[in-house]
Amino acid sequence: MDNKIISGKELATKIKSEIKLEVEKLNLEGIFPKLSVIIVGENPASLSYVRGKHKDCAECGIISDNIAFPETITQDELLEEINRLNNDNSVHGILVQLPLPNHIDEYEIINSIAPEKDVDGFTAINVGNMNIGKDCFAPCTPQGCMDMLDYAGVDLAGKDLVVIGRSNIVGKPVATLALQRSATVTICHSKTKNISEKTKNADVIIVAVGKAGFLTGDMIKEGAVVVDVGINRNDNGKLCGDADFDSCLKVASKITPVPGGVGLLTRANLLKNTVKSAKNAGK
Ligand code: NAP
Repeated sequence: MDNKIISGKELATKIKSEIKLEVEKLNLEGIFPKLSVIIVGENPASLSYVRGKHKDCAECGIISDNIAFPETITQDELLEEINRLNNDNSVHGILVQLPLPNHIDEYEIINSIAPEKDVDGFTAINVGNMNIGKDCFAPCTPQGCMDMLDYAGVDLAGKDLVVIGRSNIVGKPVATLALQRSATVTICHSKTKNISEKTKNADVIIVAVGKAGFLTGDMIKEGAVVVDVGINRNDNGKLCGDADFDSCLKVASKITPVPGGVGLLTRANLLKNTVKSAKNAGK
């Protein structure tokens, strides 16, 4: 593989084998890390993500259970289930697969998860703790971006870093994590003027817009590092990122691929957070 390409596959495999060993050690101490996944409805993409999460848990010896509800579940019924899981000492991680149906208040549901079991890192308490640099469950995808940069030996201190996208689950938190590593961070979004002007001056670009091939090689400077968070389908139905891989590869010094990039680290970080929660509970 081109040594410009940061392999998420390689890194995720390494992390998963470390987690597996850690789980074996915890099992010897009588601690059995467990993740409960709640899924509402039958959105095919959500079902596929959830299957992936259970498969990852099984590979690492983490117990996982699947709690499936029909689209018609009420807000109160869902809150009741989360309350039950919050009070179940055998459960260390609770994940509610998003999106939820329109009649459910996503914010209220997510924030009903006990912060110490919020392994997705989406509750306001976790987001707040992350922002002030306190111990927290870092959100899995932004942390995955940092893992990829660490793995590639990219030190962010003093670097000019552009994030494209400002969503609560990717853009904003990844900007925060980069700032904590002393990068000088610029966040671009749909109202930003002349994005190319910003990206052309960046040492590192993290792109999370949800638009296939948005970042092209002529928008980046020679030697820039590109972290591609996007998961899209191109016109031929092929999985692709937010960066136009071929043109960016020619100019960048390092780039993450799609598939086989950040997505695998998102999955690995969910496992890491679940084990961390089990360890915390065992203390
Ligand atoms: P999102 O909530 O739709 O946010 C997209 C962001 O991109 C918004 O902030 C939007 O700006 C900005 N944007 C849209 N069009 C733009 C344009 N023309 N110029 C500049 N900015 C623009 O998406 P998300 O949830 O952050 O996800 C982003 C991508 O990452 C998607 O492809 C998603 O599938 C992928 N993703 C991957 C993983 C993973 O594990 N790898 C995890 C989560 C998401 P405004 O705020 O101004 O609207």
